[in-house]
Amino acid sequence: MGNTKQQEICIIGAGISGLTAGALLTKQGYKVTIFEKETVIGGRALSFDASSYTMDQYLKLLSRFQMNVPYAEPDLQTIFSKKLLDGYMLDLGYHAIGGGVMSNLNSVLATLDDHIETLESSVGFIKEGGYDFPFLSRLDKIKILPNILRLLFASEKTMRRLDGISMTKTIEQYGQGKMKLVLEIFSRSISTVNNLDRISTGEMFRAQRTLLKGSKPVGYPKNGLGGIHQKLAKAIVSRGGVIKTETPVQKILIEGAKATGVMVGNKEYRFDAVISTLLVQNLFAIADENHFPKDYVNMLKSLEGTGSLCAYYSLKEIDSRLLGKTFHFIERDIGVDGNDAVGMIDFMSAVPDTGVAPPSHHLVQSYIICMPKEARDKKTLDRLKIALDKNLERLIPDFRSQLRWVIYPAIWHLDGVAKTTDNTKPDIQTPVENLYVIGDCVKAPGIGINCAINSARIIQEMLTTTPLI
Ligand SMILES: Cc1cc2nc3c(=O)[nH]c(=O)nc-3n(C[C@H](O)[C@H](O)[C@H](O)COP(=O)(O)OP(=O)(O)OC[C@H]3O[C@@H](n4cnc5c(N)ncnc54)[C@H](O)[C@@H]3O)c2cc1C
Repeated sequence: MGNTKQQEICIIGAGISGLTAGALLTKQGYKVTIFEKETVIGGRALSFDASSYTMDQYLKLLSRFQMNVPYAEPDLQTIFSKKLLDGYMLDLGYHAIGGGVMSNLNSVLATLDDHIETLESSVGFIKEGGYDFPFLSRLDKIKILPNILRLLFASEKTMRRLDGISMTKTIEQYGQGKMKLVLEIFSRSISTVNNLDRISTGEMFRAQRTLLKGSKPVGYPKNGLGGIHQKLAKAIVSRGGVIKTETPVQKILIEGAKATGVMVGNKEYRFDAVISTLLVQNLFAIADENHFPKDYVNMLKSLEGTGSLCAYYSLKEIDSRLLGKTFHFIERDIGVDGNDAVGMIDFMSAVPDTGVAPPSHHLVQSYIICMPKEARDKKTLDRLKIALDKNLERLIPDFRSQLRWVIYPAIWHLDGVAKTTDNTKPDIQTPVENLYVIGDCVKAPGIGINCAINSARIIQEMLTTTPLI
């Protein structure tokens, strides 16, 4: 750092962005303190040992992350009273990491001399009466790759022009046959938004480009997401950083248009910089909005996330040809924003040595994209649930005879802020000096976990290249 006094950084929230920033900044020589309101670290990318939860605790946990369980078979009471979840390591809902083995996550861990063992998969496509795996055959690639590559490796000037062009327009221009299907499905699943009119072509291809590092498109850590947080927490603590769980920050202290610390309980803590990882829409719950320009306050408050309906299926037996594979599907005319809905069904978590299910039990995770208000609407959820089951049935026609249990968590903050042309993510630097926002709600490459990790890399670079005042 080159400074004589070690600068003290406060991070609010121990989700994946807060932990990644904490690990990178402690490595850089900053003194980092992370305050986390929950008893556990990981935020929305949370893994938990389901055996140690009662039904009430599970539902309470989900509700703290804007989630509930609209359906389960058998019902949740029976699942918990018969201890059907014993031996399972569950996430809040479906998780896969874009970029597989060589994801942004592993490139951050490599700078910390660490690595996480990851299962990875190409992506197949579920169709009437079966599936294609991988989605694109060699012949398809030869036919459509020239167009895809032209878009993928366009200059930054062209990308900026494409930023304002919707995927609907791009599909009209380039989309024929399989190319149309590829553009429709990938842009929806990469943005987690179904409405092609709202998806930016530039953003979509930039996100694709950052995933092209030589590994398969999606990955899932062995033993669940919890291993990631343990590694990042170890990197923080071993370099003198502090993580305080069950410690909600009540207020960010701002004096003379500059963040000077935080209030926890009735105690004030002074810091050189404050980094918030809250959903940006919630920033003003802990920061007095009078310190910010009105336009900025209104813009943050107006931002919208994305939603989904997930399903965890526990199956007794699975055809070995499906194990380890991941599939996309598209449901036409299902009445959501954008009319069609894209989803995924993932058998990486069903591989016996994943460590997320008891021996000889297979955990299949899946999800279907919707908007936050659709994830709260019972009639839409009914249709989305039917689509999830129907697509699993296309892969495993007798899946019901193999079913131990199934839980369908609904979520209305999957990506904190939807990356769309009309819902622009804010910058990491806020209008208040020494106050930053990071996570999946801010301007950083990718969405979800990738956006959260990349925002942490950007803040590390910002703080080291522009010294704090
Ligand atoms: C069900 C589900 C499925 C998902 N699937 C995928 C997927 O497949 N792929 C993908 O890339 N992404 C996925 N996501 C999104 C991904 O989980 C998030 O993008 C990522 O975890 C966000 O990390 P974050 O650090 O930005 O925010 P968060 O994880 O929300 O972390 C913020 C932290 O701040 C804490 N906090 C809040 N207020 C306070 C306070 N006042 N004081 C102290 N602490 C506070 C919270 O408890 C939380 O721990 C999914 C999300 C969900 C919910």
